[in-house]
Amino acid sequence: MSTHETERLAAELLHHFGRGLQPGESVVPSIVPTAVFHLPGDPSDVAYQYGRYNNPTWEALEAALRLLEDAETVVFPSGMAAIAALLFTNLAAGDRVLLPSDGYYTTRVLGEKYLKPLGVVIETRPTATFLDGGFEGYRLVLIETPSNPGLDVCDIAAAAGLAKRAGALLAVDNTTMTPLGQRPLELGADIVVCADTKAINGHSDALMGHVASRNDQVMTRVRDWRRYGGAIPSPFEAWLVYRGLETLEVRFSRMCATAAIVAERLARHECVTAVRYPGLANDPSHAIARKQMTTFGSMITLTLRDGAMAERFIGACAYIQPSTSFGGVRTCAERRARWGDSVPDGFVRLSIGLEPAEVLWASMDEALRRAE
Ligand SMILES: *Cc1c(COP(=O)(O)O)cnc(C)c1O
Repeated sequence: MSTHETERLAAELLHHFGRGLQPGESVVPSIVPTAVFHLPGDPSDVAYQYGRYNNPTWEALEAALRLLEDAETVVFPSGMAAIAALLFTNLAAGDRVLLPSDGYYTTRVLGEKYLKPLGVVIETRPTATFLDGGFEGYRLVLIETPSNPGLDVCDIAAAAGLAKRAGALLAVDNTTMTPLGQRPLELGADIVVCADTKAINGHSDALMGHVASRNDQVMTRVRDWRRYGGAIPSPFEAWLVYRGLETLEVRFSRMCATAAIVAERLARHECVTAVRYPGLANDPSHAIARKQMTTFGSMITLTLRDGAMAERFIGACAYIQPSTSFGGVRTCAERRARWGDSVPDGFVRLSIGLEPAEVLWASMDEALRRAE
């Protein structure tokens, strides 16, 4: 999708709700906190029956996400609830699923802890060589690109071709890029999952997730899973995420533009051992990233001499919030080895926020020198 088309979507996002309003109605969705709806007579005649089935505030958020995804969308109370819906509605005993070995850790834990005992075979591959060996024999393949935290990328169109040939469903965890930065369904993926907790909400004050697909059978299963499994979002959080989503385009483009500046400077900095950012011309991810991403993202990883130096850098920088997660308004960072990721001790994942670039860079440059 061209930048122009992405920008048209961003503009449409701001106006779609207002179309079709009656005079005097609110121009923003309402929070509808109810467990029950007035339901006389035949329930099938009524749009809203019970709070676990449907809710007008979820629907407002789903309509906005459906517009961006250009696909049917179901929201869940967290990214993991969306991923659980994906896995549990598409896998049964005897099925094989392929997950990234270097992707979001909790997805693998969920598979190992709950799907494996049900008879699902779980296999993993690193993102950088994910396509090697093809997808023959898999029922479901999940990729995460750029991977988190390594920022390796996987060619989505090539993966979709392999999945089609093997009769597998291809799902993409698009959390790091959002539908404005990367469009897996247009590249041939069957399903997108996203943790809206990150850039889509963007304010670090709510969790949310969604599943989107143009495959009606997949979406019916996912919708039923929410209705019967009961993993439903709160109307309050759905409203917050809707509000956050309205500014996604301006936030994400600012974050990515600043990340590009910071990555270039980190790569040249004498105190930094290594930098990964898909936007750097010499990064191993660059060629595929250029092909399939409309921007290079807001995350950078850097490696410092050792863990102690990395902790000093994070602690010394006035505009880095030490925290896990990413995609929020504040720049944040953490040493990933503290979670057991297989990365060097001095490896730092940096999520760029909305601080003006030069102010942010000055604080980082100073913190790097003080950490030495
Ligand atoms: C955060 C994250 C998730 C999980 O989202 P939650 O809202 O924390 O459940 C899934 N995938 C990726 C890539 C993430 O970054």
